[in-house]
Amino acid sequence: MSELTPLEEALRAVLESVRPLEKERVFLYDALGRVLAQDILADTDKPLFDNSAMDGYAVRFEDIRGASEESPAELKVLGKHSAGTGESVRVVEGTAVKIFTGAPIPEGADTVVPVEYTQTEGERVLIKREFKRGANVRLRGEDVREGDVVVPEGKEISPYDIGMIASVNRSLVEVYRRPTVAVLSTGDELLELGQEQTRNSQIRSSNHHMLYSLALGAGALPVQLGIAPDEPEALRRVLATCHNYDIFITTGGVSMGEKDYVQYLVKEVGVDVRFHKLRIKPAKPVLFGTYKENGLFFGLPGNPVSCAVAFDLLVYPAIRSMLGAKEVFKRKLKAKLVRAFRRRDAKRREFARAKVWFEEGVYLCEPLQKQQSHMLTSMVEGNAYMVVYEGVSSLEEGQEVEVIPFL
Ligand code: AMP
Ligand code: MG
Repeated sequence: MSELTPLEEALRAVLESVRPLEKERVFLYDALGRVLAQDILADTDKPLFDNSAMDGYAVRFEDIRGASEESPAELKVLGKHSAGTGESVRVVEGTAVKIFTGAPIPEGADTVVPVEYTQTEGERVLIKREFKRGANVRLRGEDVREGDVVVPEGKEISPYDIGMIASVNRSLVEVYRRPTVAVLSTGDELLELGQEQTRNSQIRSSNHHMLYSLALGAGALPVQLGIAPDEPEALRRVLATCHNYDIFITTGGVSMGEKDYVQYLVKEVGVDVRFHKLRIKPAKPVLFGTYKENGLFFGLPGNPVSCAVAFDLLVYPAIRSMLGAKEVFKRKLKAKLVRAFRRRDAKRREFARAKVWFEEGVYLCEPLQKQQSHMLTSMVEGNAYMVVYEGVSSLEEGQEVEVIPFL
């Protein structure tokens, strides 16, 4: 039996082959979820001018010192400042300006008294509480200084970032290009969506649809190639199109079966195979190779769960790395096992499907009963992989385990 490649070594081979993609300029809304390829700088100080944090009265601190319900300060109201106002009234001793949230603090004033602590009496206002000097005033530049980096390169752009980018008057931003990822199922037994079943031995394909969604979810631009038969000529023709894409993913036909041609054909179409079998469970037969300029070829197993696991462990970080993301791996959590887990063969690292949930301050983990690689139910009912390391054959109830949430 050929050597099984340890996961770390496989990941190193994949990530070493990745070149970050070029930058492209996109409109603000299209930047959502993309990785920023430039620092976004503040165009001005934020706030740009001292302004009110409350609706109330702009006053001089000296005039309201010691004010209380029993002995309120009485001030003459000179006028009002609304948000966006152009006019400016000067506050002098014994006066106040009615002010609204976001309006510029009038010259001479340094403090805002919220309307709740005031009472109007004709042209005058009674201030019924003392406030600290500067209370309820937002100072120029207290959030951001002109030229500050407000969103850094490498950040995955969130809706909050979109808000920030808009606030510094940017409508176009540079992001890293998304990799094109072709997905292909292989197998004579496979049926496409809607295709009529004529024999019991036929199987409705799930994998190329799942891979399309996985690639999309990882931030790539998937391209659907459908199903290819286990027929060398036809298969070679499809595989030869790998040169059109940044990443080419096949599923099935990469194991020890008589009709598992992918491993031979890839070499004929110019793929330099780097490893072919992994020391993990499920997803032992995983082929990885490189082609032409920075192309990555992944031959994933046909069993749906193995296909998903191989994508999550290897293809996902490759896509993330191409996208320029700082975090390329799925996050890991520590969880407490609620039921013991046993296995006979402890040679490979296992990614058991599990349910993980948060309860009373800790994550709890329950491995699912159905753990076979053809049972896609475990990917639907579960929400995380539980990692069982090489050499570990049993995990006890209450023990801390490492889990990797699917999403
Ligand atoms: P293979 O790796 O081609 O030997 O396939 C392993 C198992 O996965 C077989 O039971 C196949 O029928 C099944 N399989 C292969 N490709 C797919 C697919 N696209 N969707 C669902 N099952 C598949
Ligand atoms: Mg097959």
